Amino acid sequence: MNNFQRGALAALLIVIVGTAALAPAGIGLIVAARSERQQRVERLSILADAALYRAEDITRRLSGALGEIGKVNETPCSTPYLHALRQITLTHDQVRDAGAYDRDGRWQCSSLLGAVSAGTFDGLTLPPPDWRSSDGLSAWYGLARLPGGKESLVLGRDGFYITADPSLYVDGIDTDLAHEGRVAVINTEARRVIAGTPSTDASAVLAVYSQHKPPPDCSAVAVRQSASMPLAVIVSVPRETWRQRVRSLPWGWLFGGVAVGLACACWAAYFVVRRISPRGQLSDAVRRHQFIVAYQPIVDLATRRCVGAEALVRWKHHDRIVRPDHFIPLAEHGGLIQAITDQVLDTVLLELGEFLRHYDDYYISVNLSASDLTTHRFLDVLGPAIEQQGVRPQQIRIEATERAFLDADAAKDVISAFRRAGHAVYLDDFGTGYSSLSHLQSFSVDGLKIDKSFVDTVGQDAASSSVASHIIEMAATLDVQVIAEGIEREEQAAYLRARGAQFGQGWLFSPPLSAADFVRYAGETRTS
Ligand code: C2E
Ligand code: CA
Ligand code: CA
Repeated sequence: MNNFQRGALAALLIVIVGTAALAPAGIGLIVAARSERQQRVERLSILADAALYRAEDITRRLSGALGEIGKVNETPCSTPYLHALRQITLTHDQVRDAGAYDRDGRWQCSSLLGAVSAGTFDGLTLPPPDWRSSDGLSAWYGLARLPGGKESLVLGRDGFYITADPSLYVDGIDTDLAHEGRVAVINTEARRVIAGTPSTDASAVLAVYSQHKPPPDCSAVAVRQSASMPLAVIVSVPRETWRQRVRSLPWGWLFGGVAVGLACACWAAYFVVRRISPRGQLSDAVRRHQFIVAYQPIVDLATRRCVGAEALVRWKHHDRIVRPDHFIPLAEHGGLIQAITDQVLDTVLLELGEFLRHYDDYYISVNLSASDLTTHRFLDVLGPAIEQQGVRPQQIRIEATERAFLDADAAKDVISAFRRAGHAVYLDDFGTGYSSLSHLQSFSVDGLKIDKSFVDTVGQDAASSSVASHIIEMAATLDVQVIAEGIEREEQAAYLRARGAQFGQGWLFSPPLSAADFVRYAGETRTS
């Protein structure tokens, strides 16, 4: 996967994870809004039913009271008549007053005021009724009979009447939802509002009744038509009530949840992106111990006998074997190399511990990087590990390239500590760096490995092949061993041996082998 593909995948992941985190909140909001709307409609419907029930009940009771007056068998406005009216107003809570009027609508008497003698309440004549039923019932809506008096609902028949407080229709609705909506009761024949909750706009209510459309300041409306009376109730919920409910939603929690969801999404995306980065994958490999070790035999050039092997790490990644050149630099920069060095050592001791214990003249070379050479950490790991396996310190050798000498003073100190502990130390890839010679002088080492590039030219190019022979000469002067790397042809082996190189490593002898193959190879060259 190249960088572009990785970036695209990361962006896609962030989008997917972000959507996954936000989607539940979004869906939750939509569902909550729908369910709130649904509930609003249901509550409004319950309120409308209760309001209609109340309106019919009050109308029935008032008609009942009016009927009782009709049955009073006394001379209208006589003392016993007024006494009977008073009885009726007392037994019917809903009735404010009852009385009589003459043919011309002039007021005669009242249970409250008694006989209304001419002159006392002159001019108090009932106006034409707002509505008259086919059976002679008359109704006046919002009539104030006395100056400054309360507006009443007046029902009359055959010269007698009762008055009632219109708010009876809307105040005593038997549901705890009553406070949520506006209620208005209308006479559907007269197209008049009989009663309404405060601030009822009569013309708006009548428009709602005829058009079934909520008024502009209301979010929902319900209309119920009475089956037995010319009555309808109109119930609506002001938008403000709905807004208050929305405001009272636990927005803090909601936004908190979304924020936490987003943070989790970002964290998850970051985590995934890290995991799919090369370093993330290598770190995963370290955690899962995905490294294996190949052993490339090192032979005595004179006898061709195997004397040991170099441990070469490989990364087993999805059934592929990744060569160290592809991941060691990343491990070095990514702070993972020490863990890899430790795993190589563990594997060496696990696979070849018994072999080394048994054949104590064989050794295994381990490659170290700069960070392994700046402290004594690896030495502290190595000592107890080999002691536990019964492997001698001489059987584990150290290879370090010039790149590992970044901090020359620390490396010098660590190298001498390895040597004091009994581990031979080799300068790897000798001759390829700028200061190989100065390192050879300033670091006390046990040997050097001539880089393959100098071995390659042996027998081909006289000038550069002589580099190998100069290195061998120099090593002899300094009394350090020489191992020539990358020997592929017999003539190279012969040339190097003739110049004085004692040991060699390369495909001519053997490629890197598994532990079992290496043990076999060592056994074969021992007996031959
Ligand atoms: P190196 O230490 O110079 O290892 C020798 C490399 O040359 C190995 O490559 C080996 O397979 C290859 N080789 C040996 N003989 C021949 C030959 O005749 N012809 C050819 N063409 N190649 C030959 P490899 O295993 O890919 O290792 C590459 C480098 O990775 C090593 O170079 C070493 O610097 C590093 N490395 C390997 N294992 C480790 C380790 O455990 N830790 C550290 N820090 N570095 C390691
Ligand atoms: Ca090496
Ligand atoms: Ca080398």
